[in-house]
Amino acid sequence: MDADPIPYGDHEAGRDCNYWRLDPTLRFEARRVYPDDEFEWAEPVLEEFGEVLGSRMADTADRIDEAGHELRSFDEYGDRLNEVEYHPLMQEQEEIVYEEFGVTHDAFRAPPGREEPLGLTHPLMMQALLSYVDGGFTCPVSMTNGAAIVLEKFDDGSLSEYFEALTARNVDDHIEGAMFLTEEQGGSDVGANEVRAEPAGDGTYRLYGEKWFCSNIDAEGALALARTPEAPDGVEGLSLFLVPRTKPDGEVNEAHFRRLKDKLGTISVPTGEIEYEGAEAYLVGEEQEGFRYMAEMMNFERLTNATGAVGIMGRALLEAKVHAADREAFGDAIDEYPLMRRDLVDMTVDYEAAVAFSFEAARLLDERERASGSDADDSAAYQLMRLFIPVAKYKTARMAVETTSYAMEVLGGNGYVREHTTERLLRDAQVLPIWEGPSNILALDTLRALNREDAHEALLPYVEERLDAVEHPSLEEPAAAVEERFGELQAALATLATEDGDYAQYHAKRLADLIFDVVTAALLLAEAQTAIDRDDDGRKALVARRFVETRFGDDEAYGVTSGERFAMEDDVFAAVAHYAGVDPESLVEAVPADD
Ligand SMILES: Cc1cc2nc3c(=O)[nH]c(=O)nc-3n(C[C@H](O)[C@H](O)[C@H](O)COP(=O)(O)OP(=O)(O)OC[C@H]3O[C@@H](n4cnc5c(N)ncnc54)[C@H](O)[C@@H]3O)c2cc1C
Repeated sequence: MDADPIPYGDHEAGRDCNYWRLDPTLRFEARRVYPDDEFEWAEPVLEEFGEVLGSRMADTADRIDEAGHELRSFDEYGDRLNEVEYHPLMQEQEEIVYEEFGVTHDAFRAPPGREEPLGLTHPLMMQALLSYVDGGFTCPVSMTNGAAIVLEKFDDGSLSEYFEALTARNVDDHIEGAMFLTEEQGGSDVGANEVRAEPAGDGTYRLYGEKWFCSNIDAEGALALARTPEAPDGVEGLSLFLVPRTKPDGEVNEAHFRRLKDKLGTISVPTGEIEYEGAEAYLVGEEQEGFRYMAEMMNFERLTNATGAVGIMGRALLEAKVHAADREAFGDAIDEYPLMRRDLVDMTVDYEAAVAFSFEAARLLDERERASGSDADDSAAYQLMRLFIPVAKYKTARMAVETTSYAMEVLGGNGYVREHTTERLLRDAQVLPIWEGPSNILALDTLRALNREDAHEALLPYVEERLDAVEHPSLEEPAAAVEERFGELQAALATLATEDGDYAQYHAKRLADLIFDVVTAALLLAEAQTAIDRDDDGRKALVARRFVETRFGDDEAYGVTSGERFAMEDDVFAAVAHYAGVDPESLVEAVPADD
């Protein structure tokens, strides 16, 4: 409770600083979701990574974004090259992430100082921090982790060399992953995939057909979905293949990298189109199980989308707070004005919500991974993970667009200009709702998690448990408001159970909104109770109260007649937006003495 406010005004911009140290929200969540022994090991690593990102990588990421990469499909003799000519500074970024910090290594092999690998929460936390400087580069990093997850789970050993290379720490031995699903006729509709896989007679396959969006197009560890001869239509007929850029004999594979997409953002990852012309490919696991295997990678990538959204929001918020503390207008710093204080407080509360929900989904994925292969019952963790991942991806992607857009506005005209990172953050954020499945597709997946996995069975006790943990008097009123909305959520689930499928689809996004709001509110309240008990700090209680008020409060006259002055109070602003500690007892309204 003795935390001082962060002096944002000491900075000129959100660079040359330590992102980890400047993000108490992320630090709080890391402490909550890592197992204790792993957090003890990881905390100094996160601290150092936050420093390196701010000092060595942030400017470089801006320069790579300005120039981009180039595709060289053929050499001067017309021979196939399939080469991406990377910006020369990309190598340095890769060395830092892969070799210095082991971001694609440490969840698969024991890092120095440990005898066991870490859980998947660790790369997700590192990737969130990486997204502070480069949401584009987070994509290949995450797909490398994702491809390794798939091979670790489903490969029979025949692709172990690729697994070793994906998880290698030394950049000279390291390869990256990728996932190629989308074809021109179907991105969301993966079952419409037409790329063919013909057996070559020697255990390998040859791929024919075209993939329309391939991020990290030149990955040596790319996984692609394709249909074998006689396989049924739909996702059931799809198999998963590893299709390297270079064949084991050193020749370039029979794929034509047609062109790179001329994208709005995420310039640091090259995304292009591929035409397979008999490309050598290696089956992962069993034929026609491809979609099931790819779903495991998709879970991780969707979660990365959410934790990446968190990182981009964190950076945007930092830029906004630094600017608002520095910029004077009408004689005062703009963060002295009531309306700007309200903006910054509510953006911070949104951020805390996005971080709490995303890393709760990460914790559940991790819990389920740890339980699989043991006798532990992971069914509830699985049901909750299946429900929370699509909701997290859908909600945080849209929140990141909103936050980066508003952060740009806080910087005024400068925010719109390329020299300031806010314009890149907005461009990078804009892809988050699209790749790994657009909002509607994620909302429909939420329905699937409820219908097929009975996720509501785990959801109800989950929320109850968190609300039951709340006991501090300052949290009673918001807990009662959440309880009421939780009742409405149960009624909504009961309604959808009796209505037809079209009706359920029609309401799917609003249902996902409701699930996010109720779960996040319960989670923030439980976190607030922890902060009071453990740290004697009421700051989280203020955050939780504001979240509940803005989501579930009485909105009569849009609050104008309510008399509410929450963010105007100096103490509240310093606590919520600048992370100052708060005495929990100061949050309990004085009870009038009996006459
Ligand atoms: C920069 C970038 C990089 C990408 N990288 C990759 C990659 O590496 N690998 C890869 O496989 N793909 C990649 N993609 C493709 C991406 O995953 C797809 O674009 C996305 O899944 C949507 O598919 P689509 O473009 O075919 O749109 P569609 O599936 O045609 O969807 C168009 C719209 O229709 C809506 N819609 C579709 N079906 C329904 C329905 N039943 N009900 C209601 N609404 C519906 C969607 O929500 C969306 O708004 C990338 C895309 C971008 C922009």
